[in-house]
Amino acid sequence: MLNIKIFGIVQGVGFRPFVKNLADAHKIFGNVANRGSYVEIFAQGSELDLENFLRALQNENPPRSAILKIDVENLPDENFSDFKIVESVHEAGDIFVSPDIAICEKCSEELFNPDNRRYLHPFINCTACGPRLTILRNMPYDRERTSMSDFPMCDACKEEYFDKNSRRFDAQPICCNDCGCEVYLLGKNLRGHDAIKFARKILAGGGIVAVKGIGGFHLACDARNFSAVQKLRNSKTRPTKPFAVMFRNISAVEQECFLSAEEKIFLDSPQKPIVLLNKKSGTIAENVAPDINKLGAMLPYTPLHLLFFDFPDEIIFPDALVMTSGNPSGVPITIDDEDALKNFDFCDAILSHNRKILLRADDSVMDFIDNRPSMIRRSRGYAPLPVFYDSNKKSVLAIGGELKNTFCLAKNNLLYASPYIGDVGDLRTVEVLESSIARMKDLLEISPEIIACDLHPRYQTTLLAEKISAEFNLPPVKVQHHYAHILSCMAENNFHGEIIGVAFDGTGFGDDGTIWGGEFFICNEKTYRRAAHIEKFLQAGGDKSAREGWRIALAFIKNLDIARELKLADEKNLRGQKFLLDKNINCVTSTSVGRIFDAVAAVLGICKVSTYEGEAAMKLQACAERSDKNFRAECKNSEEIFNEILTRRLLGENICDLARLFHERLSEMTAQICEELSLQTKIKTVALSGGVFQNSLLSSLTTEKLRRRGLKVLRHELIPPNDGGICIGQAVHALQEKIF
Ligand code: ZN
Ligand code: ZN
Ligand code: FE
Repeated sequence: MLNIKIFGIVQGVGFRPFVKNLADAHKIFGNVANRGSYVEIFAQGSELDLENFLRALQNENPPRSAILKIDVENLPDENFSDFKIVESVHEAGDIFVSPDIAICEKCSEELFNPDNRRYLHPFINCTACGPRLTILRNMPYDRERTSMSDFPMCDACKEEYFDKNSRRFDAQPICCNDCGCEVYLLGKNLRGHDAIKFARKILAGGGIVAVKGIGGFHLACDARNFSAVQKLRNSKTRPTKPFAVMFRNISAVEQECFLSAEEKIFLDSPQKPIVLLNKKSGTIAENVAPDINKLGAMLPYTPLHLLFFDFPDEIIFPDALVMTSGNPSGVPITIDDEDALKNFDFCDAILSHNRKILLRADDSVMDFIDNRPSMIRRSRGYAPLPVFYDSNKKSVLAIGGELKNTFCLAKNNLLYASPYIGDVGDLRTVEVLESSIARMKDLLEISPEIIACDLHPRYQTTLLAEKISAEFNLPPVKVQHHYAHILSCMAENNFHGEIIGVAFDGTGFGDDGTIWGGEFFICNEKTYRRAAHIEKFLQAGGDKSAREGWRIALAFIKNLDIARELKLADEKNLRGQKFLLDKNINCVTSTSVGRIFDAVAAVLGICKVSTYEGEAAMKLQACAERSDKNFRAECKNSEEIFNEILTRRLLGENICDLARLFHERLSEMTAQICEELSLQTKIKTVALSGGVFQNSLLSSLTTEKLRRRGLKVLRHELIPPNDGGICIGQAVHALQEKIF
């Protein structure tokens, strides 16, 4: 008899029924059980049958599953007379919690088949699709441990649930039109299909609807309707930050965007992320993503989304909806009715449902660089899939950074990053962070032995780390922000040892108390040395200096007449800022490359004040991409680069050419510094990380220039280069601590 243990994403993807069917097909007796951390099989049969069974297990695994490891052991035979699925027995170990999975093709077909008993059922799902992480209370994944435990199955659903030949055999969120959850309008007496029809009518008529999804509420409106989009912008106090758009189907996407084969694969994958695509001049309202050449596109991923677009009634419905996270600014996504009523009073309707969301999950956002994915926000569909990194077996909680927060739980060489939490400036976000940590600790059964956090003394996340670690009598391990960026890139690439790390981003606390953000490290997992950095400059004006690029520009220009000529700001502001700089009041020393992007965008007149993080950099890149000018490679330091752009701008050169020149010069400088460091140290590998490397033009140019110098380049793909990834780096460093 064989004892087989299968590790991986085997929970909630129909793995046990799959095993049972294979066993029956290969005349195998025994049983299969869900052990929480793995699936265990006892298999008895002829040697040949067992061999075929094992091969089939490895080669034919069900969709959405991912086998990471199979252990096989020979045991003496027992008295089995058939093959059974054993009820869940719980054992501690490596836990693999499945992310939420978009509706599958078969369920989509049934949804619109009038002969099917789940015709137009907004919660149709099966063993291969549906919510997972967001409805899970504890492991192992069984109905009673999900928020579906509130809904007893009807007889017909029960039959499918227990029928091994059914697509819904063992499907935990199973329900139908006769049982299970339902949709309804808040504050109106409309439920089910009537509620959906009502919401459709409002959307088609230019109204705004809040709609509860898998991981939280969205705010939706017709993406072609300028005034509807403007009303949403005004209500959300979000003047220009791009909105994501959900399209009816792939061909609707292709009407509005260019779509490569690779982008299509990710766009239509079971994760269904938002993918940033190059816009065509189509019918999407200009104010959906103003002044940038990309559009965040996604496809419907729940049955309710599909019903929005294609419900069989007389309403003519748009092909594209703005779908933006439903949250008041600075606060995590709304998940329950009470908050929805409070937060969405400006909406024309709130379409909710009674399946509880236990853990928030925003939509994931992905860009492409050189035809490879580049994750910007890793959340629904991806979290909490682990990153593998050989270190030690200890368990760590890394709290992450202050902006775009995610946290990480690590154990047994597996780093599990949480779904997106958000910016932790607001105390309500701290609460969500704390409760999400508690839930993930339960789900993954990790009790951390050490806590890691950022080095910044005043971050809410640092304070939280200190509070949590006080319970353990252990101080938190504080990891320098940019070092954590580099470590996260090393972890994603499973790289160990010495490396040259280039971390370019907006803001991070340096170990000398100044602002860092243009750093070159020589480092490994244990320690780092700041080997080089861009030229220091003065950042004056506190928080404003992070949003108002003209303030940084003035620090470089130093001359009021030139600032006036460039119309950087009005006279009063210019004089005020000049005063601060001259007298060194409210000034900090900074090496932030993010701020240099802001300053260059201001000098070129592209963006003087950002209304959202990264606005100036995105617009500068978009402008650079409109230029096809080639410049001779010249290596200058960052101050010289700024002055060259300024001089050529004053001579009246084309601003897009100059935006392009800036990207060229910056990448050349980066490659040159790395080459020098490589000559000094004999290190041949460079890691690129930090939010600035979300810029696909800069990433691409820098990579090319480094490779031409014979250096190997590690980049991010599925872990964000921005602060959403640093929890992984913090965990990697904490795992090196001697405290264990
Ligand atoms: Zn399905
Ligand atoms: Zn039912
Ligand atoms: Fe950062």
